[in-house]
Amino acid sequence: MSNAILVVGGGFSGLTAAIEAAELGHDVYIVEKSPWLGGRVAQLNKYFPKLCPPSCGLEIQFQRIRKNPLIHCLTMAQVVGLSGSKGNYTVRVRLEPRRTPPHNVDFTFMASALDGEVESEFDLGLGKRKALYKAMPFAYPARYVLDTAALSKADMARLAGKAQLDFDEKAREIDVQVGSIVIATGWKPYDVTRLSNLGAGSVKNCISNMQLERLASPFGPTQGKIVRPTDGATPHTVAFVQCAGSRDQNHLNYCSYICCMATLKHCLYFAEQHPDTQITVFYIDLRAPGRYVKVLEKVQALPNVHFVKGKVANVVQAAGDRCEIQAEDAIRGEKLTLTYDMVVLATGMQPTLATEKLPLPVPVDADGFIAGGEEAGIFAAGCCAMPLDVTRSAQSGTAAALKAVQTVKGR
Ligand code: SF4
Repeated sequence: MSNAILVVGGGFSGLTAAIEAAELGHDVYIVEKSPWLGGRVAQLNKYFPKLCPPSCGLEIQFQRIRKNPLIHCLTMAQVVGLSGSKGNYTVRVRLEPRRTPPHNVDFTFMASALDGEVESEFDLGLGKRKALYKAMPFAYPARYVLDTAALSKADMARLAGKAQLDFDEKAREIDVQVGSIVIATGWKPYDVTRLSNLGAGSVKNCISNMQLERLASPFGPTQGKIVRPTDGATPHTVAFVQCAGSRDQNHLNYCSYICCMATLKHCLYFAEQHPDTQITVFYIDLRAPGRYVKVLEKVQALPNVHFVKGKVANVVQAAGDRCEIQAEDAIRGEKLTLTYDMVVLATGMQPTLATEKLPLPVPVDADGFIAGGEEAGIFAAGCCAMPLDVTRSAQSGTAAALKAVQTVKGR
């Protein structure tokens, strides 16, 4: 019997679950597939409720992890097998090679000397990264990754023989013994290229709300300037398209919960940077739960933000890399054709497990949300169970941690 707990996923809910369980005296293994912890929150410019930058809330979590020897972080890691039963699981974890030293080495200078660049996954296609890289300055662990697949021949020659880099490091597998498991595999933005009528991926300057977060982030591809991706110009007219992929039985058959608030936040970003930009929000319903109604009222009071109740039928390319929107105004009963410098699609939240499978005995529903598993001592935390904002994800992480602790204590 083991009183250790496995947490699959190192985003906000997973970190919360891990810290809560470890602070109750349990060994915790966090298995995170990306090179750093922080999940989707790390990609944001600011997050609710206080609209603070991600480094703020995450830094507190990282400090608690640093100080707690019971927490074992396995990054670039995935669960590949499970045996045993509740209270006594053996979990097989595969670790991909990082090829940099286990202690923090500042490779800034060495990385800047490299010429080759590939698309940055972290910047969602809006920026480039080097083969030797760290996605954000507040990354935890603060270690670089050497991605040999992204090395050009010239860069390979530049790095050859550098003692601190291990070109020969191979993937390896380890086993960990745990009594219960928290799954916190989170969400991903819905692939809006599947909504061919809305222009994502085909219409220039039509971007997703998560891409706008990367533009607004001081650590993003434009160092925080919200500009048109094609020419770096200030957008003077912007349209937001709500429910892009959500509440649609052909795509995400539910409300994604966060995207109305994300758009209101983005209107505030524009108010800070480009107060003269004219914004139109095309919506079906505006959802501002609880105290967030204050944010809605604040944005509604901005003179340059206009709300149109009606569905957007199409987004197509217009002259000058502008975007043409064809929509209806449901209140006036009018068909509209309008052009904008930029369009932002308020994309929905899809659980990661809708498209990726875990070798764990947990059922998922038709949308990919976890729907069960507790009888096996496996508990869902955060957006793998339902769409949630950051605050509620953290609460869900705490709840899952307590259930996991009760499982191993009760045996
Ligand atoms: Fe649509 Fe708003 Fe729900 Fe998102 S939160 S799916 S934009 S109603």
